Amino acid sequence: MLDLSGQQVIEFTKDCLFPIFCFGCGKEGEWLCEDCFGRLDLRGVFCCPVCHRPNENGAGCAVCQPQSFLDRAMAIAVYQEENSVGRLIKALKYNYAEDVLAAFAKMIDGFLIHQFGVLSEVDLIVPVPLHRRRLVERGFNQARLLADILGQKIGRPVVEWLQRERYTMQQAKLSREERRVNVHQAFANGDFKADSVLLVDDVFTTGATMQECARVLKISGVKKVIGFSVARG
Ligand SMILES: [Zn+2]
Ligand SMILES: [Zn+2]
Repeated sequence: MLDLSGQQVIEFTKDCLFPIFCFGCGKEGEWLCEDCFGRLDLRGVFCCPVCHRPNENGAGCAVCQPQSFLDRAMAIAVYQEENSVGRLIKALKYNYAEDVLAAFAKMIDGFLIHQFGVLSEVDLIVPVPLHRRRLVERGFNQARLLADILGQKIGRPVVEWLQRERYTMQQAKLSREERRVNVHQAFANGDFKADSVLLVDDVFTTGATMQECARVLKISGVKKVIGFSVARG
C-alpha cells in the first residue's frame, strides 16, 4: 500500500495542480532541470563597473575607477531575456519567488565553488532596496531574498541599510542631470559599521542603481563596496 507523508501529499497535489516546466528545455518537473543547470557557466562575469570591459576580478580600470563608487562588480552569469537565467529572474520577480529561489541557491553554490575567495573580505551584505511602492505591490524585495541566500552561504549578516524613495519633485522642473539622480535616489537608513560591503541585486545592467547605492554606503563610512548580481546584461 502507498504510504505518503503529509508533506508528500502536499507536494504531489501541487505538482498536479501547478505543473512546472524547465526554463531551459521545457521538461516538466523543475524550474531548471539537472541537464540545463549543468550547461550553465557559473565561473562568473567580471567587468569594470563603469565601462563594462571584461577583466579578471571586476575591478574598475585605472581610467574609470575615479568616477566609480563601486570598487568591483561581479555577476554569476550573463543575462539575456530569453536564456534560462533571464527567465528565472523574471519568474523570481513576478510570479513564484519561493520555488524559484532553490534554483538560485544552486547557482550561488556553483559560483562559490569557483570564486569563494573573492567574497572572503566582505563584512556585511546589503541588498539593493526597492522603491517603497514597488515593495508594496510585489510584497518582497528579490534582492533581499538573494542576499539572504548569500548570507547563509558565506556566513555574513544581511542588513537593509539602504532605502529608496520616489522623489516627489516634479520631473519636468528638473534638469537632465537632476532627473538621473532623482530616479535613483537612495539613502542610508540605520547606523551600521563595515569596512567592506557586498551590495546585492538580481541584475546589473547600466550599473546606475548600484553606483547610487555604493555612493550612499561610502558616505556612510564604508571603505569598499563590491557589487554582486546574479546576472549581468
Ligand atoms: Zn531543462
Ligand atoms: Zn572601465
